[in-house]
Amino acid sequence: MYQIIDGKAISTALKEELKEKVTKLAGQGITPCLAVILVGEDPASAVYVNNKKKACEFIGIKSLSYELPESTSEEELLKLIETLNADDSVNGILVQLPLPKQIHEDAVIKAISPKKDVDGFHPESVGALCIGQPGYVSCTPAGIIELLKRSNVEIEGKECVIIGRSNIVGKPMSLLMLRENATVTVCHSRTQKLKEVCKRADILIVAIGKPKMITSEYVKEGAVVIDVGIHRLEGKKLCGDVDFDDVAPHTSAITPVPGGVGPMTIAMLMKNCVESIGFSS
Ligand code: NDP
Repeated sequence: MYQIIDGKAISTALKEELKEKVTKLAGQGITPCLAVILVGEDPASAVYVNNKKKACEFIGIKSLSYELPESTSEEELLKLIETLNADDSVNGILVQLPLPKQIHEDAVIKAISPKKDVDGFHPESVGALCIGQPGYVSCTPAGIIELLKRSNVEIEGKECVIIGRSNIVGKPMSLLMLRENATVTVCHSRTQKLKEVCKRADILIVAIGKPKMITSEYVKEGAVVIDVGIHRLEGKKLCGDVDFDDVAPHTSAITPVPGGVGPMTIAMLMKNCVESIGFSS
């Protein structure tokens, strides 16, 4: 029988721990503060931002909200970031992506001070991760490490195959698994014999962005499968990049969608915010 890796329960436990830490900090007169910037009216982004604000409230992190119109120029956004970088009472800055087309995401990511880069997207944060120095780590891959560890999945020495090489999931995921001493293979759209490569994995991490693409043909018997994908099907049901019903019986442990990786992303953002007290001061 396979284990369902319960991201909801694990993220709740993590948020409770963070709440305790923040209460202790409050006793020393310190309150972490996150500035959240939303540009435009993308409904999905508005929901994400709202969930982040709710998580801050639960943990006791102060959140400052900046809701800017769709027509905001890159210059205006960079100016706001500059002001927040210089504000000692702000520990973390988060700009919700995607941004309207007149604004270059790269310029915005680079403008955020690496000391306040709680999303872990700044080149300096990515570089620190690459060479094993302290710094913020992208929340989704960091959340997956937390899921594996708290589910007692051994990583060291295991064959790990990651499908996807995006800057926010696949690449940092590969660095984190390497840091945990896994033997790591990264696959992408040009990988040949994908099924064969995936079948080698003791731990298979899937971040492709294609609903239910991964079937049992890609999975070694007894592997651990982590599904990063999230898609809304017709009828509003959610699914991942993995065909859960087909794959689960062949695994030793698997994350569901919803309730797997998703809840961990926000919990890790909160962890980064609490840790920002040490980084940003
Ligand atoms: P991207 O679209 O940026 O990257 C997808 C990756 O998958 C690329 O590296 C691409 O290869 C690879 N790929 C695409 N098709 C294939 C294929 N047929 N075979 C092998 N590799 C393929 O996506 P993200 O990394 O941003 O996100 C992946 C999924 O995770 C999405 O469903 C997204 O919604 C979800 N997500 C969920 C989060 C959460 O909190 N649960 C957070 C972030 C993302 P190539 O580089 O060659 O194009």
